[in-house]
Amino acid sequence: MTQPIKIVGAGPAGLTAAISVARLGGDAVVYERRSDVGARFHGDFQGLENWTTDGDVLDELGSFGIESTFDYTPFRDCVLFTPDGKEFEIHSPQPLWYLVRRGAAPGTLDQSLKQQALAAGVEIKFGESIHNLPEGGIVARGPSRADAIAVGYTFETDMADGAYAAVSSDLAPGGYSYLMISNGLGTLASCMFSDFHNEKVYLERTVEFFRDKAALKWRNEARFGGFGNMELEPKLRQGQLLFVGEASGLQDFLFGFGMRYAMISGHHAGVAYMSNDLDQYSVLYKQRLQSLTKSGAVNRFMYNLVGNRGYGKLVKRIAKSDDPRNWAHRYYRSRWWTSLMFPLAHVTSRIQHRKDPAESCLDECDCTRCQCNRVSTRAKTADKSVSI
Ligand SMILES: Cc1cc2nc3c(=O)[nH]c(=O)nc-3n(C[C@H](O)[C@H](O)[C@H](O)COP(=O)(O)OP(=O)(O)OC[C@H]3O[C@@H](n4cnc5c(N)ncnc54)[C@H](O)[C@@H]3O)c2cc1C
Repeated sequence: MTQPIKIVGAGPAGLTAAISVARLGGDAVVYERRSDVGARFHGDFQGLENWTTDGDVLDELGSFGIESTFDYTPFRDCVLFTPDGKEFEIHSPQPLWYLVRRGAAPGTLDQSLKQQALAAGVEIKFGESIHNLPEGGIVARGPSRADAIAVGYTFETDMADGAYAAVSSDLAPGGYSYLMISNGLGTLASCMFSDFHNEKVYLERTVEFFRDKAALKWRNEARFGGFGNMELEPKLRQGQLLFVGEASGLQDFLFGFGMRYAMISGHHAGVAYMSNDLDQYSVLYKQRLQSLTKSGAVNRFMYNLVGNRGYGKLVKRIAKSDDPRNWAHRYYRSRWWTSLMFPLAHVTSRIQHRKDPAESCLDECDCTRCQCNRVSTRAKTADKSVSI
């Protein structure tokens, strides 16, 4: 009897890998350190982006055998704000993204993937923290470093469904602030790419901004925070180990829309394991994700460069477009200047990584990034044998 394929982490990447293995006739066992799936999240809304391909993301997931049994709302409309507070409405003929919930509650993406994995015969072992896989397997343990953070609130509301986003360094340095409402629930957050220690200031400003511009009203609000890791050269393989999702640093470099990357890479790793040809994983990465990673990095480089004035122009340009989805898609297609600019984006990103957090972090700092970096440093120091 063949051994089951071991997978560390029951996030979207690990569960998709397990479902793919099972659908291709193999056995998979998933180890999850927490007591349930989605426990890293807080019931917050996240957007499953639908603008990096011509085709629809739900069809792509369907082609992996993932059914859309999670609660989702397609969003075609969004109100965008420039840094000086001007408002522009955009409308897309096709959904720009599908709003999904993350966490352990029924209806979340996480619970749906768990149910699909169990139905396909996958074994999931909760409460098991794995740091080594000597016989190989798939590493899907999520981010180990905070390159970007999102801090915000989930809440209940009587507001109508709607999506609002503001691009301003005063609200979210290097990133964007958002407010999403669906079926009486809401999520508001500031997603920032620098100046993490001042997260409270940016979050307060974001709340005030949306109170003023979108008549934000909430009850039972609960604070949350999380982080993301992105690598220009994702670590895909080490011996018999395949790294997927954020464990490899696979992410959308511009805005941190990592769920789709996680599920695609998880599927590819499952396929590579089942074909007994682990090299296939990097072949599939090159075919499907490499140019997206590069374009995302170039987009981030440009976004860092233009600042508030550039963000205002960007919003106006999107708002003028008849098809904002297609407009955004253009920036994720590989173009001649993507290859030219990529080395510059690469060097800049390495310099930013080198000025790392821990140096500027005060011991008592409780910001999301410092907490995350302390936990990863402690884990590495405590267990020198950690290999994944
Ligand atoms: C606040 C926030 C908002 C976001 N918004 C969006 C968005 O709108 N759209 C989008 O596409 N993306 C968004 N993202 C990013 C997205 O959530 C991630 O990219 C995605 O969840 C990555 O999936 P993953 O499976 O790689 O990792 P994770 O979802 O982190 O799953 C990893 C799992 O591994 C487990 N684990 C970790 N270490 C071990 C171990 N040693 N042993 C066993 N188990 C372990 C963890 O408990 C976790 O369950 C957001 C992220 C955050 C934090």
